[in-house]
Amino acid sequence: MRKAAPNRRTILKGGAAGLVALAAPPVLGQAPQRIVVIGGGFAGATCARWLKQEAGKFAVTLIEPNNRFAACPFSNAVIAGLRPIEAQYFSYDGVKKSGVEIAEQIVVAIDWDASQVRLADGRSLDYQRIVLAPGIDLRFDALPGYDQPAAEIMPHAWKAGAQTVLLRQQLEAMADGGVVVMSAPANPFRCPPGPYERASLIAHYLKARKPRSKLILLDAKDTFSKQKLFQAAWQDLYPGLIEWVPLSQGGRVTEVDPASKTLITEFGSHRADVANVIPPQRAGAIAVSAGVADQTGWCPIDPLTFESKLRPDVHVIGDAAIAGAMPKSAFAANAQAKVAAQMIAGLMRGEEVHEVKLINTCYSLVAPDYGISVAGVYSPKDGLLTEIKGAGGVSPLEAKPAQRAVEAAYAEAWFQTITGEVFG
Ligand code: FAD
Repeated sequence: MRKAAPNRRTILKGGAAGLVALAAPPVLGQAPQRIVVIGGGFAGATCARWLKQEAGKFAVTLIEPNNRFAACPFSNAVIAGLRPIEAQYFSYDGVKKSGVEIAEQIVVAIDWDASQVRLADGRSLDYQRIVLAPGIDLRFDALPGYDQPAAEIMPHAWKAGAQTVLLRQQLEAMADGGVVVMSAPANPFRCPPGPYERASLIAHYLKARKPRSKLILLDAKDTFSKQKLFQAAWQDLYPGLIEWVPLSQGGRVTEVDPASKTLITEFGSHRADVANVIPPQRAGAIAVSAGVADQTGWCPIDPLTFESKLRPDVHVIGDAAIAGAMPKSAFAANAQAKVAAQMIAGLMRGEEVHEVKLINTCYSLVAPDYGISVAGVYSPKDGLLTEIKGAGGVSPLEAKPAQRAVEAAYAEAWFQTITGEVFG
C-alpha cells in the first residue's frame, strides 16, 4: 500500500495562441491538476485515456510529435506483402474525443526544478505528474558501421512506417536466388518473438515468390521466445529455407559494412542481397537525457506504481521501462498503462494503492494461417515484476492445422481489439 498527498501546482507557460487549448481549466477559477503523458504509442495513448476515465477532474495532456500512430504489431505481415502499410496507421481522433488534450510536439527536455516539460517549439508545460512512454530508440552507437544512413541501406524496420516499406520494397526487388540476412540483438529488446515471426513471414514470401532464395538469421542469443514452436514450424513449412545461426555458432554481428551489404561476425562475414539489421536498443532518448534511464539504457521502476526509481512523480510504462519478466510488447504496454493510470489517480487523490496482477500475451504468425502464442501473468515481487509460475503457457508443440489457424485468427482479433480500444 502507498499513499501520497496531492500536489496543487499548475498550468501552462509560454506565449503562443495554441496554449489556450491545452490550458483550459475544467473548473472555473481553479487551475487543474495536470498530468502530462509523453509519447502516444500503445502505452502512452492507453494511459492518457484511462487517466481521463480514472481521474476526470485532472487535465491530461498527451504529447506526441506524429499526427497518426504507426503500429509495429502486424508490420511483419506488411514486409511479407500480406497486408497494406495503411492498415498499420491510426489517428488520434478517438483519444481526443475521450477528453485528452493533445500537443503535436516532441518533448526535448524535462525541467525537474520548475516541474515543466519543454517542447521543441520553445513552449513549456507545467505538470504535477509525468507519464513517460517514449518507447525505444535504436542504438546507432552500438554496432560499428550501423548508423542512421546505414539504416537506409540495411533497414531495421523496428519502428513501423517508412522503414517497414523500405524493407518490403527491397524484398520485392530482390532476384530469385537472393540471400536475405537478418540480425537479431541480445536481450532485452522490443518484441522478443518479433525477429522470428519476421523470418517466418519473409520465408513464406520467398517460398511462394522466390523459391531459390534463402534467409540467414544471425542471432546474438542461443535461445529465443517460443523457440521450439518456431523451429518445428520452420522445418515443417520452410525446410532448408531458414538458417538460424545462434551466438555459440558465431551468430553475433560485431560490425556491418553498408557499402557491400555485409554483416560481420566473430566467425566470418555474410554478404546479403537484402539485409535487415535489428540493432541493440534502449529507452527513448528523452528518458535517457532526462536522467530517468540507468546505465543499462532502460528505466528502473517501482513495479507496483510504475513510478521511476530515479525520479519522483514520474511514471515510466511500456518498452522504456525495466518491467522485470514482462516482455516489451504492445500487450504489456497497454496492460501497464491501465494499471499505472489507476495508481496515479489513486496517488493524486491521496488514496492507498493496492497490488494488482498484469497479463501479457504475444501472438506470432509463422504463416498467414499459422499462429502461435505465449502468455504470462505477472505481479510485483522483490522490486520487479515477476512471472507467476503455472499461470501462463505456450501453444502446444503438437497441434492440428485448424488449431494453428484459430490462433492466427485470434492474433488478428487481438490487434483489432487493442487498436480499437487505444485509438478508436
Ligand atoms: P511505442 O508504441 O513505440 O510508442 C512510443 C511513442 O512515443 C511514439 O509514438 C513516439 O513518437 C513517442 N515519443 C518518443 N519520444 C517522444 C518525445 N520526446 N516526445 C513526445 N513523444 C515521443 N507487440 C505485441 O504485443 N504483439 C505483437 O504482435 C507485436 N509485434 C511486433 C512486431 C514488430 C516487428 C515490432 C518491432 C514490435 C512488435 N510488438 C508487438 C512490440 C510493440 O510494438 C511495442 O512493444 C509497443 O509499441 C510498445 O509501446 P510503447 O508505447 O512503449 O512504445
